[in-house]
Amino acid sequence: MATVAIVGGTLIDGTGADPVPNSTLVIENDTITQVGPASQVNFPGDATVIDAAGMTIMPGLIDCHVHLTSPGGHLSLEESFLTSPSLGLLYAVPQSKATLDAGITTVRDTGGTPAGVREAIKRKMFPGPRLLISVSALSQTGGHCDGHMPSCVDAYAGLLPDIPHYVVDGPLEMSKRVREILRAGADWIKLCTTGGVLSPSDDPAHTQFTLEEISAAVYEAAAQGKKVCAHAQGTQGIKNALLCGVESIEHGIWLDDEAINLMKKNNAYLVATLLAPVSVLEAEDRHPGSVPPYGLVKTKQVIKDHAKSFRKAAEAGVNIAMGTDSGVGIHGENARELELMVTNGLTPMQSIVASTLTAAKLLRLDKKLGTLEEGKLADVLVVDGDPLADIKVIQDKAKLVAILKDGEIYKDLTAKRVTTMA
Ligand SMILES: [Zn+2]
Repeated sequence: MATVAIVGGTLIDGTGADPVPNSTLVIENDTITQVGPASQVNFPGDATVIDAAGMTIMPGLIDCHVHLTSPGGHLSLEESFLTSPSLGLLYAVPQSKATLDAGITTVRDTGGTPAGVREAIKRKMFPGPRLLISVSALSQTGGHCDGHMPSCVDAYAGLLPDIPHYVVDGPLEMSKRVREILRAGADWIKLCTTGGVLSPSDDPAHTQFTLEEISAAVYEAAAQGKKVCAHAQGTQGIKNALLCGVESIEHGIWLDDEAINLMKKNNAYLVATLLAPVSVLEAEDRHPGSVPPYGLVKTKQVIKDHAKSFRKAAEAGVNIAMGTDSGVGIHGENARELELMVTNGLTPMQSIVASTLTAAKLLRLDKKLGTLEEGKLADVLVVDGDPLADIKVIQDKAKLVAILKDGEIYKDLTAKRVTTMA
């Protein structure tokens, strides 16, 4: 049996409890078997030891909104039109690695990533986070994920055969398409119940899909034990999603009191992706002309309201689960979302809980993940610094000294230091 002991660090367990200095965590195979004060924890002499003295031990982070096949921040609209579907898929390889390198050990992919990527990571063909996928991102004709450009070219005409098409209208078509997506291996169903910022022919405030269409999707998903998440920015589209039993509101730019009350009543989750509009503006700064003009205009219009809406939800005590929309921006910068959540009203500890236990609850993985407790899977980070004093420290790859997923050591700089000295 392979045993790993992470020794003597300050434990942030993901529950929101106060940090515990000088703690030790013991992992056997993929599971945490002991966690407690260093003096009370025993492990065999042949265990692999990670010396975490002066450092922080915390759960691997969970990002509930990523697009692993979208080469965000890298490709202009023109370049993306020059990218074949097979080449587009292969972007998932370095981008999955970049995500794990950022300390993200679990991801919910909210559109564009087929089941093969999840399977390839499981088979260790390349490093990446544990993956839940929604495969397609469903949209009405002319909606947020209808790829038709003003030229009449369909940007999503070349989807891979195991990614059912995104555009669907009417409850009957919706039922069938959701069944096709579940057949393609989806863990979640993703709908767009409002317009969006990066779509050419709609408005983020506009309502998309009818109650009948959304209900059909929720019904079909539930029939196979699955849940629905909704890209929902405008107020009415958010409420429609919630009224039909959607589990998580993605983005949530214009939450009003009624929407917040509905979220609380339904025990729904907000996945705000505060990083998304920031990434759009940064991409344009880095490569002027890379963001289509309509996207830039809409981003500037919504960014302040988005932050305000997040703050309102946080103050009201809505469940907040971390998500970044990486793929809009560069993969591997996911931990910036925690800083943005802190800037907009959460404490550092709350931002960590949003990225661990609460995210695990949304994904219904909390029996196995999200906290560092005995019996849970060992997804663990060791951070050279105190994220409660400076949440930015986890963005620094050099300070992310160890990353374990399923008990396996993916990265351990402490070991490297020992080797260098010897
Ligand atoms: Zn997205």
